[in-house]
Amino acid sequence: MIIDAHAHMFTTGTFKEMIGNAPERMLKARKIPEKMMEGLKHDVKDNTAAWLEAMDRLGIEKTVFMATSPQSEEFAKFINSSNRFVGFAKINPTLPDAVDTLKAELKAGMTGVKLYATSGRFDIGAQEAWPFYELCEKERIPITIHFGVTIELASNLNAGNPLNISRVITEFPELKVAIAHFGAGFFRETLMLKYKRDNLFIETSGTNNWLPYQDNFLTLRDVFRKSLTVFGPQGIIFGTDTTIFPDGYREHILKQQTDILNELKVPKSDIEDIIYNNAKRAFGI
Ligand SMILES: [Zn+2]
Repeated sequence: MIIDAHAHMFTTGTFKEMIGNAPERMLKARKIPEKMMEGLKHDVKDNTAAWLEAMDRLGIEKTVFMATSPQSEEFAKFINSSNRFVGFAKINPTLPDAVDTLKAELKAGMTGVKLYATSGRFDIGAQEAWPFYELCEKERIPITIHFGVTIELASNLNAGNPLNISRVITEFPELKVAIAHFGAGFFRETLMLKYKRDNLFIETSGTNNWLPYQDNFLTLRDVFRKSLTVFGPQGIIFGTDTTIFPDGYREHILKQQTDILNELKVPKSDIEDIIYNNAKRAFGI
């Protein structure tokens, strides 16, 4: 069985909510691709059906969806449409109402949190956010964080350095934190963060197109090999970052990553941990 620990769901509604705060001049500068607009035509019902079809076909037990806007009713409706969908809320943990927002999101059906450090442009390690982390630790609410590069508008790479979470994972040792896309360019920093920390996971999702922007010649295979050494097979969580419309489930990413693990001669039971058990354990799903 497989758990895909990172996916998205877009409709016209959730897309509008996501770009709602982006300044007009940025939207003009970055034209939304025709193809993406095509995908937005599908509603929640279409998304539910397409996802369940793909998951049945590929042996995916559960998929974790990252909200792209705070307190989205449409996103909650989608998450609650199947018990095989897991919802992670989008929250800015430094806002004064972050704890209340989290409580409301839990009520709406979310069971984890996605922090968009780079595009959210907040200081993820700020003291203002600590009550939020305290609640997450107490209630065992897992956190996935997108540091590093992102296609999202209005992002700030200065806020996207994984080292910014260093104090938090030390201060809250029971908090479960997964760094998405191998740190999306901050691979070195993500590895450094793991030093003697049991509560940190590295997550594999996406095309990993941050690799050409590194000052070295790492391939995705090298990244897996190094992650296996530093995080261990029990510290790596699989994901694809699929948005199902218009192109369907990203089977090529599932294949690429399992091929790499097989090439590296990772034992079958470790591969099962990476593509299934680790997410189940870390995210309590
Ligand atoms: Zn994503």
